[in-house]
Amino acid sequence: SRPIVAIIGRPNVGKSTLFNALAGDRISIVKDYPGVTRDRIYADVTWLNTQFTMIDTGGIEPDSKDEMLSYMRLQAEIAIDTADVIVFLVDVRQGLVDSDSKVADMLRRSGKPIVLVVNKVDNFEKLMPDVYEFYNLGIGDPMPISASSKLGFGDMLDEVVKHF
Ligand code: GDP
Ligand code: MG
Repeated sequence: SRPIVAIIGRPNVGKSTLFNALAGDRISIVKDYPGVTRDRIYADVTWLNTQFTMIDTGGIEPDSKDEMLSYMRLQAEIAIDTADVIVFLVDVRQGLVDSDSKVADMLRRSGKPIVLVVNKVDNFEKLMPDVYEFYNLGIGDPMPISASSKLGFGDMLDEVVKHF
């Protein structure tokens, strides 16, 4: 069966924008049971000759800052349990924040392949210096993209499929 790629990251980093840009029209929503934020949204993606299933784990967003860490922990658990490759999405405009570091620690311990993707790099020339900050997460080279402008997708997907 197809490899599974999970996209995780804080609210508003652009998970759904990236997901929709890659997904085309084959999207399905899997709801587990009421009150449990394990809803996952699936899509089939083809990149060059490779097919994979992509999951957006951010179905239900947390209401408050207090809920952020448990939300991120749940996302990380789903990704670690189900994914062959984890895309960890961060936001160059917000920069590196504490919950990013906590998630990076959880992911690193899982031993799963992680691709660190920095979104909202709408102007590569201008914003690349800000991308380098994410080397501090200690999970490898940050790949810059702009999900809304569809920039950087080729290099990002090459990196993802390398781990299958
Ligand atoms: P999610 O909560 O992680 O699923 O994030 P969304 O995909 O809903 O995006 C959150 C906000 O960021 C929306 O207003 C998007 O339009 C915006 N956004 C997403 N990708 C980009 C990007 O590449 N550049 C910019 N400037 N904004 C983006
Ligand atoms: Mg979303």
